[in-house]
Amino acid sequence: METIDYLLAIDLNYIVIGLIAVFFTLEQILNTQFSFKNRGMHMWHAFLFQAVFFIANLFYATVSVFAIEWLNDNQIGLFYLIEIPVWMKLVLGVALIDMTSYWFHRLSHALPILWRFHRVHHSDTTMDSSTYFRSHPIEVLLWFGNATILAVGLFGLDLITVGLFFFVVTLFQVAEHSNLRFPDWLDKTVGLVFTTPNMHKIHHDQDQYYTDSNYADIFILWDRIFGTYKYKPAEQVKFGLKEFDEERKQTFWYLLRSPFFKN
Ligand SMILES: [Zn+2]
Ligand SMILES: [Zn+2]
Repeated sequence: METIDYLLAIDLNYIVIGLIAVFFTLEQILNTQFSFKNRGMHMWHAFLFQAVFFIANLFYATVSVFAIEWLNDNQIGLFYLIEIPVWMKLVLGVALIDMTSYWFHRLSHALPILWRFHRVHHSDTTMDSSTYFRSHPIEVLLWFGNATILAVGLFGLDLITVGLFFFVVTLFQVAEHSNLRFPDWLDKTVGLVFTTPNMHKIHHDQDQYYTDSNYADIFILWDRIFGTYKYKPAEQVKFGLKEFDEERKQTFWYLLRSPFFKN
């Protein structure tokens, strides 16, 4: 178990930094989708969010692993009651954590108190791979941490499944926010089951009709099943939120405090 502890607490951070470095470089070389004013500054503010999250997560990752081990030791959850092959447990497990996270995400749009934290992620008016970092640390801990523990308790998942989920979800999320051009055919093929970058960009539209759609990080299937799937060409998306349109509201310091303001 110690190797997994190590992987969950530390290695994922290396993976995240590696992925951002790759995508950030690709965004410099390849034909990007949207024009960008000040990429360096944008990255810096997003990085500060990651730095705060990293420190908070050193504590929270330990608590999460402890909770998951307790649930496993007491054999709590659906998969302890039924016999299915190990590979199927892994695939279903990742899909079920994604489904639980889908509902946490949907709730974050529906409940004003949660939306105050979640809108920090939606406030970005110019998106690139570093937007992946840009989430309020309180939200990330409450949402991903608790969604994972809840899914483990309901479905009887182990730490390997949780580790696999975080690896896959990170890969998806960095690609989903990247400022790279992805073809429409990807949406019509892979997009029948999986969330494509174009689909997640629609989720970042200022128009609330589209903001409240495409909640799933990995399997867009959940949006199709639960009736929240929407589509429009990515070129027509206008990123951000009306109340955060001013330049001064795009800084780390403003955004970190923004859940506690009246605006
Ligand atoms: Zn959202
Ligand atoms: Zn996003």
